[in-house]
Amino acid sequence: MRTVALSGAVKVPALGMGTWMMGDSRFSRAAELAALREGIDLGLTLIDTAEMYGNGRSEQLVGEAIAGRRSEVFLVSKVLPSNASRRGTVAACEQSLKNLNTDCIDLYLLHWRGSVPFAETLEAFARLQRAGKIKHYGVSNLDLADMRECWHAAGGNAIVTNQVLYNLSRRGMEFDLLPWLREQKITTMAYSPLEQARLLDNADLKAVAKRAGISPAQLALAWLLRSDDVIVIPKGGSAMHVRDNAGARDVVLSADVEAELDRLYPPPVRADR
Ligand code: NAP
Repeated sequence: MRTVALSGAVKVPALGMGTWMMGDSRFSRAAELAALREGIDLGLTLIDTAEMYGNGRSEQLVGEAIAGRRSEVFLVSKVLPSNASRRGTVAACEQSLKNLNTDCIDLYLLHWRGSVPFAETLEAFARLQRAGKIKHYGVSNLDLADMRECWHAAGGNAIVTNQVLYNLSRRGMEFDLLPWLREQKITTMAYSPLEQARLLDNADLKAVAKRAGISPAQLALAWLLRSDDVIVIPKGGSAMHVRDNAGARDVVLSADVEAELDRLYPPPVRADR
């Protein structure tokens, strides 16, 4: 099983599952539960959710999918910036624990930067950690300037991840954020790795995938997985998509394919600001 050492320590699966827009409809619930359970069976045991997703409905779906299997999974959830005050963070976490039907979240993230000072949220994270309600904490959607500020706030150097938008068509973070995160041993978690499926319709990408004998989704995910320190969390709403995505772990991209992808989606030449 491909793993990433979270901040150089705890091993987690390099390929997990996202759950944004899941749990919203009773018509797709059975298929979504089957997708998540299939993913766990296949070793995609890192599951990403957030209090924001469907106002807790995604967390509830995850709670149902992992019932009786809590010890097999590594749960990631997020606090909304509007709840990220000293007391609000603790209250939000308690609610997420209820939604997920568990007593501990493995990794708890600040969803994006809001008006609450980082130090306040970090203090609450540390308190939750001491109480055994979260194991690790981190952030999401921070650019390099915000990331530096947060890292230097009290408790900031215990951050283990920055979950950011990163895929073939969104390579901006490679310019300065990714190298800086690597220097501090903060693990990158790539969200929307399929660009919410928009990547998969690209005729050039499809042609490269076809020549490589893999699906477009596998190509996009394998490209991210070639780095041994990036966690990738595609959302698959069906067992079929989850199985397809799981196959990306076995793909080794040739130098020719990588060069072709660099031509189609060039790396950044300047900071993304
Ligand atoms: P994504 O994973 O890039 O793409 C999901 C889309 O791709 C869905 O429409 C899905 O369709 C489709 N898909 C998945 N596997 C496929 C396959 N093998 N073949 C064809 N289509 C496939 O988009 P995302 O949901 O935005 O990102 C993934 C996760 O990252 C989220 O679910 C969430 O957990 C996290 N995220 C975090 C943030 C943040 O601010 N921190 C922001 C966005 C996302 P089906 O549903 O039909 O399978």
